[in-house]
Amino acid sequence: MVWKELLARLKGGEKTEKKYVNRFLKFYHGNKKRLLKERKKSYYDRRKEGICVRCSEKAVAGIIFCSYHQQRQVEYNKKARGGQ
Ligand SMILES: [Zn+2]
Repeated sequence: MVWKELLARLKGGEKTEKKYVNRFLKFYHGNKKRLLKERKKSYYDRRKEGICVRCSEKAVAGIIFCSYHQQRQVEYNKKARGGQ
């Protein structure tokens, strides 16, 4: 009787905790692989087709952004270097 109760309590507690951990890990690992793969594919597809990787506009020849996002990228790089 005592054995069964102890075992059930251990099992029950462990089960609840494991369920949470597994659910998050399962979701994280399952989606990470799939999302990374899809993102990579679409990035290269867009680059190959000359489409901006940030929107669906036509990219400027030679770069991966449209003129709008190219400008945004230039501004971002300026800020990252300290505004100069
Ligand atoms: Zn764009």
